[in-house]
Amino acid sequence: MEFQAFPKWDMPLSPKGLMLIAGPCAAESERQILETARAICQNGISLFRAGVWKPRTRPGVFEGMGETAFKWLEKAREETGMRFAVEVANGNHVKMALDHDTDVLWIGARTTVTPFEVQEIADALHGHDIPVLVKNPVNPDLELWTGAIERLANAGLTRIAAVLRGVSGVEAGHYRNAPAWSMALELRHRFPKLPLICDPSHIAGNTSYIAEISQQARNLDFEGLMIETHISPEQAMSDSRQQLNPQQLRELLSNLIVKSHDDKASSKIQEALTACRCEIDQADMTLLATLARRMAMSKRIGELKKEENLTVLQSGRWEQVLAQAIENGHRLGLSESFIRDIFNRIHLESIAQQQ
Ligand code: PEP
Ligand code: MN
Repeated sequence: MEFQAFPKWDMPLSPKGLMLIAGPCAAESERQILETARAICQNGISLFRAGVWKPRTRPGVFEGMGETAFKWLEKAREETGMRFAVEVANGNHVKMALDHDTDVLWIGARTTVTPFEVQEIADALHGHDIPVLVKNPVNPDLELWTGAIERLANAGLTRIAAVLRGVSGVEAGHYRNAPAWSMALELRHRFPKLPLICDPSHIAGNTSYIAEISQQARNLDFEGLMIETHISPEQAMSDSRQQLNPQQLRELLSNLIVKSHDDKASSKIQEALTACRCEIDQADMTLLATLARRMAMSKRIGELKKEENLTVLQSGRWEQVLAQAIENGHRLGLSESFIRDIFNRIHLESIAQQQ
């Protein structure tokens, strides 16, 4: 399988050498597209993004403006020089996007999970030389992600990049989606030449965490970022909480530390260390979220006991919980003394919460 590195994509890269993709979650109006594009085009942005068809999890909400939005994107390209990318979810979308001379396509997380759709897209792209970005599937399944990339490569495409946008269904702490860094690194291991992009917006789900996730992606040598940016995020018709305004985007980019090749972690060991630290940070966040959820349950039990006039301390139940934890811990390679220490501390806190 042949993959081209970003410098060979015939697209501008940021002064820091990154593929920087920014723009709103969705194209909403001509004014919103033009104003957003004008406000960010001076920041070394490689590509302007905007969804034209929005795959929403639930029906009855804004699902994108459809084909009419292309003329706004074409106008923005003409005026600012920024090329544009849209999401495609089936063969018909591909046909319309190609008819409107779209520069880059991306496949969304809800499409990567469906091999029939991905194959339909790959078939529609046969014989076209257009770059395609493949987001990870919504669930942490490296095989589906790999399969989608293979389907496109088999259709003859060579400008393909993978986009990590996080996964749902697993504990994500205060993020909207768990980053799943190790899944992306595993993908890099499979396809060492495949460029990697991080979408911190859909991982974070909230503007507060986008800078830290972007920096982590850089520390792991991701070659690009896709950051949702809207001229007035509070009025956005989708993903409003996670979109930066143009000023926030500028600040993030100027604070981003991009190490030069010389002072980059040169050895494989350094790279593995950085990856492990990211995983530990994520595990700690998950641990805290789990503890908080457990304490909330204890509190609820405290209320129920009060209603029934039961005592807080029911030692039979606690012995059962501890024995179960020791057994499960043993299966996971955790020592009994460690489990006892931790669980006794948790128990004390639970009692305090119930009282
Ligand atoms: C998007 O980029 O706006 C989008 C719908 O992303 P995802 O497929 O990652 O949810
Ligand atoms: Mn979005």
